[in-house]
Amino acid sequence: MELLPLLLTQVHLVDHRGVQDVDCVAIVDGLVQSVGACPEDRSAFRVVDLQGKTLAPGLIDCHVHLSLTPSGAYIEPTEQEELGLWSHHLGAYLASGVTTVLDTGILPEDARAMNQLAATGPSPSLYYLGPLVSPPGGYVHSVLPEFPPATSPQVLREQIADFADLNPVGIKITVESGMLVEVWDLYPQDIQAELMAQDHRLMAHAISPAEATLALDLGAAALVHPVTKPTPEIIARLAESQTPVVSTISVFDTLLWGMEPERFEDPDLAMLVPEAELSAAQNPEWRQQSQALIAQGMLPDSRPWVHRFMARAMDWKRPTQGQVQTALDSVAALHQGGVPIVMGSDSGNWPLFLYEFHGVTSQAEVQLLARAGLSPMEVLTASTSSGAALIGIEGHVGTIAEGYRADLLVLSADPLLDVRAWGEIEGVVSGGVLASPAEWMAGVPKRD
Ligand SMILES: [Zn+2]
Repeated sequence: MELLPLLLTQVHLVDHRGVQDVDCVAIVDGLVQSVGACPEDRSAFRVVDLQGKTLAPGLIDCHVHLSLTPSGAYIEPTEQEELGLWSHHLGAYLASGVTTVLDTGILPEDARAMNQLAATGPSPSLYYLGPLVSPPGGYVHSVLPEFPPATSPQVLREQIADFADLNPVGIKITVESGMLVEVWDLYPQDIQAELMAQDHRLMAHAISPAEATLALDLGAAALVHPVTKPTPEIIARLAESQTPVVSTISVFDTLLWGMEPERFEDPDLAMLVPEAELSAAQNPEWRQQSQALIAQGMLPDSRPWVHRFMARAMDWKRPTQGQVQTALDSVAALHQGGVPIVMGSDSGNWPLFLYEFHGVTSQAEVQLLARAGLSPMEVLTASTSSGAALIGIEGHVGTIAEGYRADLLVLSADPLLDVRAWGEIEGVVSGGVLASPAEWMAGVPKRD
């Protein structure tokens, strides 16, 4: 397919620097060539007039799990089916306006397979944290056994070496001792010393103020979740060091899918979410099993039959809404305290959960940032340029300016006037191609 350079005319443009109204944005070889005056000769371009629309940077989701399929533990896809689901997920990100993702927990062989899929079909730009380091006896190995723990400094060095060809943005470390009661071990001294000695950036999964403190002591450059109920001390420390925190409010908000059936009425779902996942998410038996797991998270001391009983007997909507509010309040407190907030959804999250749909959840997370009290401009910044800065690509992505990658959204309204405009996507530019969400889902040929 011959691909003409793209010329966008009558452009109302928004990015983290503000609003610009310009005559033309020219896109050549997948990069923004000029912003401002129009070239004299337009014959070499495909010209698209954007009058009445808004051009925004593509969204950057800084917390996804590309290799994890929502409800995957129930569907149990074959290897071949799984690759099909992964391709669908990659397309769903683009169709949802997400042009860059940071995967914060993937096995290196799966990341290589993902890069293969991204090279041959519609996909956002993929970045990785890796390896996912966890202490022996600790989290994440205790709930996702396929991720091997760092049992010695030597094993840790091997895990890091095995990820090197993927050019990871940093190493993911988990610092979690259990959700409500301490059930998991933290790092032994020799692993701590090894983590602090190597020269990759560390990005930490740490939930409580105490865990976040330990993560920062280890040298964490970012936190991939908000600190829950942050204390003034941890807020001050994160603000002082300008350590970015990824929002992931969706971890709790997505649980409400099981209690708010109207969410399934969104007409875009059938296009964005694979049929297998949509029907799994509405399977009553699997809903019950998934709810029993959530009950376990809320009642960690009791036995499995209690969780099953409670999952059936209790109305979980109110306590779940309470968890969402706690997450919103935590992000709000961090934000008000001057901590940089970065949009991240935790899509894929855990294959035993049913509702962390890829692409769809990123869109929801953007709206949740507004509910946490970020202004429309702060939502834009958290979802574009701050994500680029966290990944370390802020000179290339996340801003609409000459020389930047042309990852762009054509929205039917201005998201600085109403954040819901982020969901009003008419077109997505990726790799120099402008196509509608439906066209991206149908597999627009990728430019190489
Ligand atoms: Zn995660």
